[in-house]
Amino acid sequence: SSFMELNLSRPLLRACEALGYSKPTPIQAACVPLALSGRDICGSAITGSGKTAAFALPTLERLLYRPKRIPAIRVLILTPTRELAVQVHSMIQKIAQFTDIRCCLVVGGLSTKTQEAALRSMPDIVVATPGRMIDHLRNSMSVDLDDLAVLILDEADRLLELGFNAEIRELVRLCPKRRQTMLFSATMTEEVDELIKLSLTRPLRLSA
Ligand code: AMP
Repeated sequence: SSFMELNLSRPLLRACEALGYSKPTPIQAACVPLALSGRDICGSAITGSGKTAAFALPTLERLLYRPKRIPAIRVLILTPTRELAVQVHSMIQKIAQFTDIRCCLVVGGLSTKTQEAALRSMPDIVVATPGRMIDHLRNSMSVDLDDLAVLILDEADRLLELGFNAEIRELVRLCPKRRQTMLFSATMTEEVDELIKLSLTRPLRLSA
């Protein structure tokens, strides 16, 4: 299959071309159409499978065809580590390069003040580690997830291994009930299953 067949808008197709992607990877071919349908998705996918673009492309497409009426955070992507957050953020910037979608990074080790200013400017997408995101939501009156449309939990097994269970639960509670949720995990453990039950509604299961 080709990216054209995935029903993506021109700016996203141009980005795939600029990145040198000639055809979707299996997880992308499977995930993009299902994610565009609005359903919750739970995917077993490892790093290297192209999973970042698999969730980024349909998420950006959704932002393009449903423009926001008010400035708000529309997408939250949670990752277990700062390194992964940096990678995911950089990937989103590349895929969004021909759009006006804005993405910001919220991780430990960067200045809280700078991040707070970035969050107050209401980026469309926030890529964050759980602890730092909660700090901002607790400490800043002007940062909230009330208009969130998509929640993505990347490397869910590692998020739980690193002890972020309570933080993720708190963040899920702060998101609107009506939203799309996608969860990706290299392994499907009992703990991951519990998180799926808690945060996803009738998810479609994918593996690649
Ligand atoms: P990921 O699994 O998301 O960490 O991606 C692994 C690597 O595959 C990254 O360097 C991506 O830029 C690259 N990649 C993602 N999708 C494609 C594609 N359709 N064709 C070629 N490379 C890709």
